[in-house]
Amino acid sequence: MILIDGKKTSLEIQDEIKEEVIYLKSKGKKIPHLAAVLVGSNGASKTYVNAKVVACERVGFESTLVRLPDTISEDELLHKIEKLNNNAEIDGFIVQLPLPDHISEKKVTQAISAKKDVDGFHPENIGRTALNLPAFLPATPFGILQLLERYNIETSGKHCVVVGRSNIVGAPISIMMGRNSYPGNSTVTLTHSRTVNLKQLTLMADILIVALGKPEFITADMVKENAVVIDVGITRIADKTKKSGYCLKGDVKFDEVSEKCSFITPVPGGVGPMTIASLLKNTLLASKRK
Ligand code: NDP
Repeated sequence: MILIDGKKTSLEIQDEIKEEVIYLKSKGKKIPHLAAVLVGSNGASKTYVNAKVVACERVGFESTLVRLPDTISEDELLHKIEKLNNNAEIDGFIVQLPLPDHISEKKVTQAISAKKDVDGFHPENIGRTALNLPAFLPATPFGILQLLERYNIETSGKHCVVVGRSNIVGAPISIMMGRNSYPGNSTVTLTHSRTVNLKQLTLMADILIVALGKPEFITADMVKENAVVIDVGITRIADKTKKSGYCLKGDVKFDEVSEKCSFITPVPGGVGPMTIASLLKNTLLASKRK
């Protein structure tokens, strides 16, 4: 079994981006600038946004953190987004999800200019991704593709089973794995909570991509010998032995599944850090396009 090291791969990509930033600086060109909008004080969201700001510093990007109270109205947030859309200094920005219940994530996602949508959530970018046209690829699925590519994992002709059909992970990765490209050219089965006989399907997977948010849901008896297993899930579980008071669990029961697969991503340190690498890649692209 080969452990797919997302942390190491993400840092390698960040080093490559850093080199490009040094080059841009040497030519007197604009330094890429990412803004992140954080609404409220959700602990996990704060951690994710901080990690993104730290990564910007690491590669030499400029970054702006926009912190807003969870009492902000939807209209006020949409107004802030419009300002970021029109701010020529900012190349790309993200609005960290989830948002408070009184704010529509759909409206917010669609309000971000497709040209600055470095999370790749806007319908225009999803549509272009589906058509294999240049686009900001959705960050987490883009991270998964980079892992498959950098570990030289064959995807052509393979049966890829995706568990979970969210707009940000399951649905887009299922489209991307079926595109006529590398990584891609897989035969894809997309499963969800209404799927009947899930185990029968996961057992057929050469590549199993799991994003449902249920800790240790996928057990060894659901996985084919020598399968490639990509675990996107991250759930905080209370753990008094940890200083933070919690530990992170993936959607795959790592200890038993890792014994029978050919490649596997750990949690933490697998797909998570790759989402950040993708975000930086998309921001660099946004800056270059301008
Ligand atoms: P969502 O909650 O939006 O979607 C979950 C999906 O899982 C839904 O499509 C749901 O089906 C499906 N599902 C639920 N129960 C079952 C079941 N028993 N069998 C099959 N499918 C089921 O999740 P996200 O995609 O946003 O997130 C999934 C996980 O990935 C979470 O742990 C999240 O924290 C993590 N994540 C990690 C990221 C990273 O950077 N590494 C980025 C984004 C997410 P239905 O549609 O029918 O309800």
